Formats: sequence, C-alpha cells, structure tokens
Amino acid sequence: MTTLYGHRAPNTTARAPHWSDAALCRRTDPEAFFPAGIGAAVQQQIDDAKTFCTGCPVRLACATSAITNGWDKGVWGALDEGQRRRIVQRRPENLRQAIRDEWAKRKANPYFDAYASRTEQEDDGHVRWLIKSTSVTVLGRNYTPAQLGLILARGREPHGTTKATCGRPGCVAPEHLADDIVRWDRSRDAA
Ligand code: SF4
Ligand SMILES: [Zn+2]
Repeated sequence: MTTLYGHRAPNTTARAPHWSDAALCRRTDPEAFFPAGIGAAVQQQIDDAKTFCTGCPVRLACATSAITNGWDKGVWGALDEGQRRRIVQRRPENLRQAIRDEWAKRKANPYFDAYASRTEQEDDGHVRWLIKSTSVTVLGRNYTPAQLGLILARGREPHGTTKATCGRPGCVAPEHLADDIVRWDRSRDAA
C-alpha cells in the first residue's frame, strides 16, 4: 500500500510542531484506514475508522489537509473518500465549515452521543466528566466514562482496567486513556 502520508507523523528533522504529532492513529495499523473493495465488511471497516477519528483531537486539521492536498484514498479526519470528493466538488468558501457539516450528517453513534453529552473539553486538552453518575448504559451495556472514551479512541471494547495516563485525575480525553491492550502495546514498543 502506498499512501502520501501513511497516518503517521512525517519524518521531519526540524521537529517543528505539526498536527500529526497529536494524531490518534499514530500507533495504529494504517491499513485500518484504507479499506479496499466493496461490501458490508468493508463498509463496517470504513465506519470503524470514522468512529476512531471522531475521538481524535486533530481531526479537523487532518480532514483539511486531506482535502487540500488531494489525498483521495482512505479515511482521513472522519471522512471517507466519497465525502471528501463531494466537498471538493462543491468548492465551499469555508472548507472547515463544510467538513463540520459533513461530520454532522454522519449517522448517530450512540457511544459518541453518550460521551459528548456528558463531557466538556478543557483548554489544555483534557476532558472533564460533567455528571455525578459514573455508569452509562449504551446498547444495553454499562460503561464507565473512561471506558466510553476508550471505545471512541480505539473503536473497540475496552479490556481490563481503563484509566487516564495523562496525570489529570478523572480525565476522560479519548487519546489520554489506556486499557490493558494499550498498555501492553506501549510496553512492547518500549522494550
Ligand atoms: S483524524 Fe483520523 S486519520 Fe486523521 S490523524 Fe486523527 S485518527 Fe488519524
Ligand atoms: Zn487528560
């Protein structure tokens, strides 16, 4: 597979800050964002990738870059190929708004809805859980706030204890959460 960007931080030597430094997908398999073919399984993979992007703090910059640079394959910034093509064809004056409008059309994600309605982003990138209850039922299963955030970040059910790794007590920013699998991946990478 050839990609222009590879869903990874660019190989810069100057290390100027770049939005991709905060990409949620930096440690994931790039193939997950480039489903090939047609059919229900591929559509599910596209949807899973978009769900993953929904928890990414740089999704607007990612979608904007994909459109302005003509990255026509795969899922970028929670938009699939067709969505980006439609935006390009419309030649919107306000690209960022067009991207947000396209996001809004996406069919409701009950995990995102449950999370977004009970959380508030803080200026420094952490996310606060706003209500007293720390158990939320989605599609018949109970989740803690951290588990909900992890589902948004990883696009899968959590395994083992899920907690923030950013040091901010109670933070539920999707990208700040880790469960057993994330911890295992990180310790393997560090070894
Ligand atoms: S929006 Fe999606 S594709 Fe873009 S950096 Fe974030 S996780 Fe990766
Ligand atoms: Zn945090």
